[in-house]
Amino acid sequence: MTSIFFIKIRFLKRDSFFVVIKVMKKFILLNIVILVAYSCGKKTTNKSSRYVKKSIGTPIPLKFSKQSCLGSLDISDSIAKTDLYLQGDYSSNVSIPINDKLMINSIKMGNEIFSFRDDLEIKNSGKNYSYCPDIDFYQKDTYEDATRSVETALSKFKTKFADNLMELNLPDIKLWVAPMIEIKSIYREKNTKYDIRQFLINNAFYSYELGAMAFLPQGYQEDGDELPFDGVPLWKIPMVALHEYGHHIFEILIKDKWDYVFSKKTGVNPCIDPRGFVEKANKAVFDERVINFELVRGALHEGFADLVSSLLGTDYASLENIGCMEGNREVHVARFTNWSDKTLDQDALDEFLSDTEAFYFGCGLDVDYQDIHIIGAIFARHVHVLFEELALTPEQRFELLVDWAKNLNKLKINTQSGNEKYNLKLTIMSMLTVAQKKFSLTDKVCKQYIRGFTALESAENSHYYCQ
Ligand SMILES: [Zn+2]
Repeated sequence: MTSIFFIKIRFLKRDSFFVVIKVMKKFILLNIVILVAYSCGKKTTNKSSRYVKKSIGTPIPLKFSKQSCLGSLDISDSIAKTDLYLQGDYSSNVSIPINDKLMINSIKMGNEIFSFRDDLEIKNSGKNYSYCPDIDFYQKDTYEDATRSVETALSKFKTKFADNLMELNLPDIKLWVAPMIEIKSIYREKNTKYDIRQFLINNAFYSYELGAMAFLPQGYQEDGDELPFDGVPLWKIPMVALHEYGHHIFEILIKDKWDYVFSKKTGVNPCIDPRGFVEKANKAVFDERVINFELVRGALHEGFADLVSSLLGTDYASLENIGCMEGNREVHVARFTNWSDKTLDQDALDEFLSDTEAFYFGCGLDVDYQDIHIIGAIFARHVHVLFEELALTPEQRFELLVDWAKNLNKLKINTQSGNEKYNLKLTIMSMLTVAQKKFSLTDKVCKQYIRGFTALESAENSHYYCQ
């Protein structure tokens, strides 16, 4: 029955296909509600085994290099070599001069971090890393090579945008390479208590409180599992390092007014495919989502970070062939992986601001509009189109992004719950007013941007933002 249904929908037109997905989602949700209503007494029986089993991620440890750094510490004209994942190719053997001041003040390899809920506590501080100009190539499976890969990406960025960055005068940050982060939580069922232990794997994050960006180790979620992203570790993908650094830039720029009241609670925020990242050990399958300003803030954060990571261009910072990331997160790609438009229409906004967790079919078939990265990706896509229409240089794009972020502090944001749509409109549309100050926007370009967000504003109101 199911398979026939799927064979049939393959022949439908693309638009009808999305309608089918949407109808299916509503239908399945209804069935689940009915099912839960009819099986209240029994509904937890399989929960424990499912959670305990799925929550264990097994990290693949890296090795410390046995090569020792002998002499010269003069890195002024040294060239580091490493393989980065460029344009869909893993074995790129990139040689990049390492910039002296890397925006990073300490690098720790392999720290052990323990967390109960959101409080992170460092058990083992890991090994310090410092750049060694004597060693031009480290073995692939070493912490040092992983570190150098991130260093190389950031160095390229720092060199290219030296002037922009100098003006910002950002504080340096810490880099954690393949830290073992153990999340402990307890799941209770009737009289039995289950300790749930899991290591965070296959992701990256930025944390303002920790002043750090981290690249988690690769790992297997379950036995027989395959490594995600075709087995490419995230530290090898320059776009990921730049995305995390983009979070740092944004956070520093907005922190004047949009302080940390909300995000302090979120602790670690994974940057890639958050569904399936950490199994929610103590919660019901269909959680109530908390709808507050943090969603708006998170979406803008993700969009800004994706835009920063796109500034080096597709030759360097690309997600080619990295699963659903390519379609969903590349700003130059107009459609999501499942081929729907990157538009914030009413359905998308309703789903984003719904307090019920929506059923999600996975990124090949569906778009998870409840994910801040997806809403951020819609924003990033339309800002990118604006950049292209205005034919801005990478440096000008960076400048405009910074102006926009600084201007956010001046907007009359209302952080009380219930104002999410208003806040999204205010912040997203402010890109046009900021751009208008430096460049002249034609009505066509202005309307084109607004059409990306039909749930927020009508293109007829373009005169309000551009002359
Ligand atoms: Zn992110």
